[in-house]
Amino acid sequence: MTEKESATDFVRTIITEDLASGKHKSIVTRFPPEPNGYLHVGHAKAICLDFGVAAEFGGRCNLRFDDTNPSKEEQHYIDAIKEDVRWLGFDWGEHLYHASDYFEQLYEWACHLIREGLAYVEEQTAEDMRKNRGDLQNPGVNSPYRDRPAEESLDLFARMRAGEFEDGAKILRAKIDMASPNMVLRDPAIYRIQHRSHPRTGDAWCIYPMYDFAHGQSDAIEGITHSLCTMEFENHRPLYDWFVEHLPVPAVPRQYEFARLNLTYTMTSKRKLKMLVDEGRVESWDDPRMPTLSGMRRRGFTPAAIRKFCATIGIKRTEGTVDISLLESILRDDLNDVAHRRMAVLRPLKVVIENWPEGHVEMVEAMNHPGKPELGTREIPFSGELWIERDDFREEAPRKYFRLKPGQEVRFRYGYYLTCTGFDKDDNGEITEVRCTYDPESKGGNTEDGRKVKGTIHWVSAAHAVDSEVRLYDHLFREPIPGANGDFLDDLNPDSLEVVNAKLEPCLADIPAGELVQFERSGYFCQDRDSNADKVVFNRTVALRDSWAKLEKKLNQQAAEGAK
Ligand code: ATP
Ligand code: MG
Repeated sequence: MTEKESATDFVRTIITEDLASGKHKSIVTRFPPEPNGYLHVGHAKAICLDFGVAAEFGGRCNLRFDDTNPSKEEQHYIDAIKEDVRWLGFDWGEHLYHASDYFEQLYEWACHLIREGLAYVEEQTAEDMRKNRGDLQNPGVNSPYRDRPAEESLDLFARMRAGEFEDGAKILRAKIDMASPNMVLRDPAIYRIQHRSHPRTGDAWCIYPMYDFAHGQSDAIEGITHSLCTMEFENHRPLYDWFVEHLPVPAVPRQYEFARLNLTYTMTSKRKLKMLVDEGRVESWDDPRMPTLSGMRRRGFTPAAIRKFCATIGIKRTEGTVDISLLESILRDDLNDVAHRRMAVLRPLKVVIENWPEGHVEMVEAMNHPGKPELGTREIPFSGELWIERDDFREEAPRKYFRLKPGQEVRFRYGYYLTCTGFDKDDNGEITEVRCTYDPESKGGNTEDGRKVKGTIHWVSAAHAVDSEVRLYDHLFREPIPGANGDFLDDLNPDSLEVVNAKLEPCLADIPAGELVQFERSGYFCQDRDSNADKVVFNRTVALRDSWAKLEKKLNQQAAEGAK
C-alpha cells in the first residue's frame, strides 16, 4: 500500500497530540473482529482506520479475534477474516491474538474483583434479573445475592468453572450501581456458563467472559493505546474504564468511538448477512452481490478502490448513510486506469454482410486502452457474420438514433463501415438477423473521403466468438435503507442477478484469473471462479457510467414527443 490514505480527522488529531505531549511514545491499535461471520464493507472502514493510523504514525496494529462466544464462532470464519484483511492490503505481522489467549488471566481478574467486593455470583433467574434491572425511568433493584460474602462467590465461581452447573444457572456480575442512569453499569454480567467447545480452547472452559469483560482487558494486556470502535460502544466506555481502573492491569488503554459505515441498498450486519446465506437468499458468503469483502473480491472490486472509498468518507462521530454510487464511482475510476478494453456482446443479434467475400476472415487491430497507447494493441478477427447488441439495431428509429437502422451507415469499431440493407423477423415479430453491406475502403473505421459516420458500435465475429455466461448484478436490495419499513428480507431485489449468454472476442477465453477488463460501452468485468474447461463465466463488477442509457432515454423522449 503506497497511497497516503487520509485527510485528518478527530482520531488522527488525538493521536498527534498524544505523541506530541509524550503521553505515548508510539501507538498500538487493534482490529477486533468476532469470528461469527465474514467481514463486510463496514469492517473495511474499521480496518482502514485501525491499520491505517498505525502505519501513518509508525505504530502497529494487532489482529485480535474477539472469540468469547463459542456458540456462534467458527474456525472457518477466523481463516476467512485473515484472508480478507490481507487482501485489503494490511499486515499484522507477528501480532495475531485471540481474546481466548487471555482466558486464564481474565478468570484471575474476575476472582480479583470478587475478592475486592466488586463482583458476585448471581442466582436469580434471567426473568427476575431482567425485571430487577429497571429501565431508563426507574432505577434497578439490588439482587438478593449482591452482598453475599466474597468466599461464597469465589467458591461458586470456581464450581462454575469446574462445570457443576448448567448453562444459565448462575452468572458472575460486576457490582457497580443498580441505579446508574447508564444501564450498562447496572451490575453487568461478566461471566456466563456455556457448556460448549471453543474453536481454540476446546473443552478447557465451560464459562466464558462477556465481551465487555474481555475487550478492555485484552487491550490492556496488548498495550493498546487507542482502542477504536463504533458509536454503539459509547455507553460501554464507562464500563471499559471501570474495569481498567479496578483491575491490576499492566497499561491503561483508551477507547474512542467513530460512526459506523452505513451504505444505501446494502446491509452491514453480520447477523443479517448470515441469515441471507443460511436461508439460501444468496449463494454463499462470497456471492458477488454480498457486501462482504469476499463477495466484493469475487465481484471484481479492487482493494485499492475500497481503501480509497474509506479514505474519502473519512472518520466522524455523526452517523449517516453513504450513497453506494460513491463507492461505485471510485471503483470505476480505479478500474478505468488499468482495465484493458475488450469487445463483448451481451444480448446478441446476428449481422450478415452481404458483400463480404465468402469465408474470408480479416484481422483488425484494436487498442487495449484508447487513453493509454502504451498498453498496446491486439488483433481481432472480422468476418462476414458478426454479433451485435440487440439494442444497437432498430427497425424504426428516430432521426438522431445513430446506431443501425435500415439505410443507415454505422462504424463497426476497429472494423469497417456497414450500411443496413434489411432484416428478418420470426413469426413472433422478433428480429432474427440484420443484413448489411460494408465499404471495403473503410478498414479500421475511417475513410479517405472523411465522410461523417456518427454511430460506433461494438461487435464480435460469430465464427470466432467465445460463448460465455455473464452475470449482471444489480443492488441486492431494492430499498435504499433495507428494512426501514419492516422486514429487511422483503426489501431484497428480485432482479439482483440477471444471467445472459454472451459472445466474447476470442482473447477473453483465457484471461488470467483476477484480471479485470472493460467490455466496451458496457462495464467492467472479471472472470468468476465458476469458470471451467466447459464454461467461461464473467461477473459484471460495475456498469459504466450510464451515458448510453441517458442518450437512449433522451431519444425515447424525443420519439414520444414526435409521435404526439
Ligand atoms: P456486525 O454488527 O456486522 O455483526 P460487529 O460490530 O458485531 O459487526 P465485530 O466483528 O465485533 O462485528 O466488529 C469488529 C470491528 O469492526 C469493531 O471494532 C466494530 O466496531 C467494527 N465495525 C463493525 N461494523 C462496522 C461498520 N458498519 N462500520 C465501521 N466499523 C464497523
Ligand atoms: Mg461486535
